[in-house]
Amino acid sequence: MNLADYIRDISDFPKQGVVFKDITPLLMDHAAMQETTRQLFDLVGNHQVDKVVGMESRGFFFATLLASKLGAGFIPVRKPNKLPFNTISEPYSLEYGFDTLEMHSDAIQPGDRVLIHDDVLATGGTAEAVCKLVEKLGGIILQVNFLMELTFLNGREKLEGYEVKSLLKYK
Ligand code: IMP
Repeated sequence: MNLADYIRDISDFPKQGVVFKDITPLLMDHAAMQETTRQLFDLVGNHQVDKVVGMESRGFFFATLLASKLGAGFIPVRKPNKLPFNTISEPYSLEYGFDTLEMHSDAIQPGDRVLIHDDVLATGGTAEAVCKLVEKLGGIILQVNFLMELTFLNGREKLEGYEVKSLLKYK
């Protein structure tokens, strides 16, 4: 199965000039969902993971499935004022704008071994901010993985020093 067949390009979304990779065709196909989860699980290799951190909102889908498969907990990272308990926050720049990300202050214990997952690595700003949140709480980042990577945006440069993996690469 070629997972790329389940991802479609949407031009000029969410704004003019952006070609948005839409994973909803993949999400609505059970076999493609299962295969994606299996392949992401394989990317993790032998790492012993305590917590999987997923980014709002498309990162949640596979981060929770991965956490379940890995026997790990799931931690949501969200946009401002969405999380109900005490939070820590980190500003970041996005391919199409600026924002802040938040995580519950009790989400990670010092020494927790953490896998970070999101659907897309674009400029890397989002993932970089999440790495900072995890490390502020004393988490150890084992790997940052993605369903797909837009290699022409050089997001890996922002994640130097971390193990970065993705299933699909778009040039
Ligand atoms: P970055 O911070 O520039 O790496 O952008 C990554 C974030 O933006 C991820 O949380 C993605 O969900 C989202 N994103 C950026 N480009 C796309 C896209 O083409 N399709 C889906 N999500 C995207």
